[in-house]
Amino acid sequence: SQRVVIIGAGIVGTNLADELVSRGWKNITVVEQGPLSMPGGSTSHAPGLVFQTNASKTMTLFAKYTIEKFLALEQDGQSCFNQLGGLEIATTPERLEDLKRRHGYAQSWGVEAHLIDTDECVRRYPLLNREIILGGLYIPNDGLALAARATQLLIERTRNAGVRYHEHTVVTGIEKDNGHVTGVTTNNGTIPADIIVSAAGFWGVEIGAMVGLKVPLLPLAHQYAKTTAVPGLVGRDVNKRINAMNAELPILRYQDQDLYYREHGEQYGIGYYGHRPMPVVAASLGVTPKEVDDKHMPSRLEFTSEDFEPAWKATKELLPALRETEIADGFNGIFSFTPDGGSVVGQAPNLDGFWVAEAVWVTHSAGVARAVAEILTEGRSRIDIAECDVSRFEEVQLSPEYISETSQQNFVEVYDIIHPLAPKESPRNLRVSPFHARQREQGAFFLEVGGWERPHWYEANTDLVKTLPTGWRHVDRDAWSSKFYSPIAAAEAWKTRNAVAMYDMSTFHRFSVSGPGAVHLLQRITTSDVTKPSGTITHTLLLNAHGGILSDIFVSRLEDDSFQLGANTSTDLAYLAREARRQEKHTPGQWVQVRDVTGSTCCLGLWGPRARDVIRSISSEDFSNKGLPYMGVKQTSIAGVPVTMFRKSYVGEHGWEIQTTPEYGQRLWDVLWQAGKPQGLVAAGRAAFNGLRLEKGIRASGSDMSSEYNPYEARVTYAVHMDKKEDFVGKAALQRLSKQAPTRQLRCLTVDDGRSMILGKEPVFHNGQTVGYVTNAAFGYTVRKPVAYAWLPTKVQEGDSVEIEYFGKRIKATITADPLYDPQEHRLRN
Ligand code: FAD
Repeated sequence: SQRVVIIGAGIVGTNLADELVSRGWKNITVVEQGPLSMPGGSTSHAPGLVFQTNASKTMTLFAKYTIEKFLALEQDGQSCFNQLGGLEIATTPERLEDLKRRHGYAQSWGVEAHLIDTDECVRRYPLLNREIILGGLYIPNDGLALAARATQLLIERTRNAGVRYHEHTVVTGIEKDNGHVTGVTTNNGTIPADIIVSAAGFWGVEIGAMVGLKVPLLPLAHQYAKTTAVPGLVGRDVNKRINAMNAELPILRYQDQDLYYREHGEQYGIGYYGHRPMPVVAASLGVTPKEVDDKHMPSRLEFTSEDFEPAWKATKELLPALRETEIADGFNGIFSFTPDGGSVVGQAPNLDGFWVAEAVWVTHSAGVARAVAEILTEGRSRIDIAECDVSRFEEVQLSPEYISETSQQNFVEVYDIIHPLAPKESPRNLRVSPFHARQREQGAFFLEVGGWERPHWYEANTDLVKTLPTGWRHVDRDAWSSKFYSPIAAAEAWKTRNAVAMYDMSTFHRFSVSGPGAVHLLQRITTSDVTKPSGTITHTLLLNAHGGILSDIFVSRLEDDSFQLGANTSTDLAYLAREARRQEKHTPGQWVQVRDVTGSTCCLGLWGPRARDVIRSISSEDFSNKGLPYMGVKQTSIAGVPVTMFRKSYVGEHGWEIQTTPEYGQRLWDVLWQAGKPQGLVAAGRAAFNGLRLEKGIRASGSDMSSEYNPYEARVTYAVHMDKKEDFVGKAALQRLSKQAPTRQLRCLTVDDGRSMILGKEPVFHNGQTVGYVTNAAFGYTVRKPVAYAWLPTKVQEGDSVEIEYFGKRIKATITADPLYDPQEHRLRN
């Protein structure tokens, strides 16, 4: 098998060696700069609390697997996981509400969870001060991982299976040839490699720099302290349970004060996130010494007791028994934070064969390792890794300033209650479209995505709200779903359906694919036939070899060898660029250039029944159904502005995406604006867009669909052309899958009472049982009901009644045929 070198023998590197070797890979070397018995990275001092529940399905499933694996990792009758349960407590009404939301996540992702009252909290955790507890979330399967021990057992097990370990060996460089890794340079010589995985923890930045890869993580110190013996616990027989972790009570989280707790026998361990961020540059820590012990390791800095004072005060309030103790020992331990809080996993976009698995907590370690091993050995991970893919970041998000500021912010907010739409407060205005000045004049309310400022509604449309016909009036929402939302969105939706509206589409990813190999590449990696004549747009899918959906894209053929792609993420770009490189290597004549043109273009969506009237008044070009049919594209000019007109729509109305280059952007806005006034044109934002998109049944890659699902399950087979004569990635899998009836499907739900909002990720119940989860939800303005999409078993059918849990309440909804709006596509095609 391939020669693999793993850098780092922490919990991630050793798990990865284990996952690879257990899949039959033989040629694996692990290189570690420290001593193997205690390498000195973050794992060497991790207290090992595993709270599984996370807003991210991926991270929760990684945690579930880590628990499963550590429970099975045994020696002398002692596993590496102590399933004590986990308790998160609320001392504020806001937190109590948040715990209900987290209870929803747990159910959505299949983790047993219980909301419990104050009495039950105290019964489960007698040391708590009941005076301040309002309630809690109890997860029976959470607990303590013995990370350092697991690392040692994994080293032993993998060594026995043939994995080579080199300790005291520092990686100093990566060798490469022709865009592919060839080896790892160390202080003890070079090790040849076909695949290199950097599992170097917070040293990942330095390893990445060796190959010109910006690894977006920031090492930060985090305080952990142990108390002296708690009088009430002295002498208790912790060995009654098989328990090398010296703990009996559940692991405890006190997020209102940025604290968490575990027992260490008679002592308490206290972790604190409430202090100032303390960034560290890994390179400044020097070489790991030959001798490492509990107190002396590079990842452990001096305790700064003054930073811990608020934690100590809050702890004595929460756990009165600790008032009789003192801090016996503490340290500031280093580990990684990232701009969006996710791990950094996957193949480097700039160098084939170079992989990373970093910014990974012990909690997710085995899950991440399994995912990487599955991708390497089988070409896909069963759990979708898009949320932690190393290539998910935009260029602007890879600057040292951005990484530093946002990762520190993530440290500060790690336990905060954050609304899913809440934008970063800083840095802002990193990317603005050429329409920005005009949008501000219209009172745009901006939220941020990928560094872009994106209007969600325009205050200039406020007066329209009062004039809305009865069937379009705003429906009141609860406080949480009202955040980052305005009733103005209803007015913008109404204008889109009844007149015309203009949407800034500049923030969508646009790539150019050109060259003699362009057709070959797109035929090979998409599910559709893109050999249609120039001037046509094809909506198609990118699949993995197992038929899982990587992304959905719009392929516009501009000229014979020149295409523009409307895509979803930077990860799509990394995939296309990698496949293009691969093609060029194998068939040199078939070169193809893949370029990101998002920033060098800008785009307005002009949609609504009067869109054609607007364009007619400023252009003599033929924009009739004949001149530019639905899913057609044309390069032309309107009112003297050079444009590319794409006849397609995300909102289900007639119109175009009108693209130009940024120097003409403002002019494009102005000419459309002037021409649109007589037709009632308004500027409209994402809030309206999301509702219109959902009622039109347009799926969003990443949330509605992911690599865990195939096109039959997602019901997007219209984008698959099995009769295409060329083979394409995923075709063989689809042939197999087409013969099996799907057991789960993406379904459309409408909320029965017509008003109760949901936001996404909520669990869905059928006959009282959790059967699936909501992917996306929005108010459907035209159908006048909240609309949701959800993954559900096929046994739940159209017309069936289900319930969605939102903040602990059950909302009744009905499975409905979709799309809800204009299923015949009259509005789009005429
Ligand atoms: P590491 O354990 O740091 O391993 C990376 C290895 O790479 C190191 O051994 C290092 O020596 C080696 N290496 C680096 N550079 C080179 C090189 N150039 N050549 C050779 N080898 C190299 N997580 C939880 O899930 N639950 C918790 O309760 C928890 N509590 C924590 C408390 C504290 C105080 C801290 C600091 C962290 C905590 N974490 C917790 C986080 C967790 O410890 C880490 O995220 C995890 O251990 C990272 O594992 P790793 O294998 O990626 O990194």
